[in-house]
Amino acid sequence: MSFLIGPMRKHINGHKELTAHNEILSLPKVDKVYIPVTMGNAKVEVKVKENDSVKVGDVIALRNDHFYVPIYASVSGKVLGIEKRMGSNLRPADHVVIENDGLYTKAELSTLSLQEASAERIVDFMKEKGLVGCGGAGFPTYVKYNTDKCETLIINAVECEPYITSDARDMEENQEFFHLGVKAMFKASRAKKCMIGIKVSKPELIAVLQGLFKDDKDIEVTPVPDVYPMGWERTLVYELVHKRYDRLPIEVNCIVSNATTAIMLGQAMTNGLPIVEKIVTVSGDAVKEPHNVRCPVGTPFSELVKACGGYTSESVSLIAGGPMMGGSVIKDEVVVASATNAITVLAYKKVESLKCLRCGQCVEHCPSGLEPVNISNAVKAKDVDRLEKLHPMDCIECGMCTYICPSKIEVTENVRKAKQLMALRAKK
Ligand code: SF4
Ligand code: SF4
Repeated sequence: MSFLIGPMRKHINGHKELTAHNEILSLPKVDKVYIPVTMGNAKVEVKVKENDSVKVGDVIALRNDHFYVPIYASVSGKVLGIEKRMGSNLRPADHVVIENDGLYTKAELSTLSLQEASAERIVDFMKEKGLVGCGGAGFPTYVKYNTDKCETLIINAVECEPYITSDARDMEENQEFFHLGVKAMFKASRAKKCMIGIKVSKPELIAVLQGLFKDDKDIEVTPVPDVYPMGWERTLVYELVHKRYDRLPIEVNCIVSNATTAIMLGQAMTNGLPIVEKIVTVSGDAVKEPHNVRCPVGTPFSELVKACGGYTSESVSLIAGGPMMGGSVIKDEVVVASATNAITVLAYKKVESLKCLRCGQCVEHCPSGLEPVNISNAVKAKDVDRLEKLHPMDCIECGMCTYICPSKIEVTENVRKAKQLMALRAKK
């Protein structure tokens, strides 16, 4: 097992200026939303049927196995049925289709007072509201907080992926919700200290947050270096508390939550709304007017791109998330889910790979301390025994090895293939 051997000190061009200071666009009314109700192989019970009327915040589906995750209507209107559409993982998934009546009538929704709620009540509230990590992972938040071992709560406001500015814009726009959400997470975690990690290259936002938390004892805004992948949990925990862990931050007495997740908690406590609306960064070199766009969960990517003036080229690469860790999607029918934070639109370029120079840069920059070039070679040779010794499963798919490679080799793609080979071997 090899973790954190790489230097993790690579500054990459963020292109954040494309959207960092633009107004947040509010999408014109979408006629229909498509709420994803498939969660991997988990059984999800759909609670609505064709022609049912729903309000914003009504539960329309429920996952209730080892995780409890309610899924909510993001608009009011009429349920048209269930439709199979492509999910952001390129697999067909069930989506509940709701015809939007444009009224956004709210269901009766419970709120929560921070002063009156105990730590356990806040964790239950996270569960009731189906709060999931908004940094892209979508993991149920309450699960992390079911512990009495947390000493440091870390709020991840780093946003290290190029192009993405939705967390930063959300924090600027929704300061009260962020303040309340962080304080509630701090109480729920029962930690002694809370650190808000944010890149040093955002001095204006740092000043805003320092002002926001100036009277909150034990909550500190901590600037971190502007390097990639500083927003990866493992990297951030190491930067802030100088500890390494194997699987989960709680092994070193930390909980890490994303900044937008805190905003969503603050919002739910104030007006009862679960995650029914997202701010999504639509950026890249192949979209006409990059912006952050506010839209209901379940809105197709195509609507967001349209709101940003459309594509600049007929041949684009569309990515759900940022260009380093996001996943390519082949159709813009894919919809915004609770965890979606960005759509990156890049002009398609055919890349001619050259021979490996054996320069070792991919090894030097891998934050997981792996040897991507050797993994890549073992994949090409289909040498699974060799792969086993190279620990490809520790790869976090940060994309750094491809980004750094002077020969333009798709090293990350080869490491992904290595992971698939290892998974197949484990099944045998
Ligand atoms: S994508 Fe490449 S650089 Fe990133 S963790 Fe995986 S092997 Fe390392
Ligand atoms: S960075 Fe590219 S060229 Fe250099 S060793 Fe790795 S795969 Fe080879």
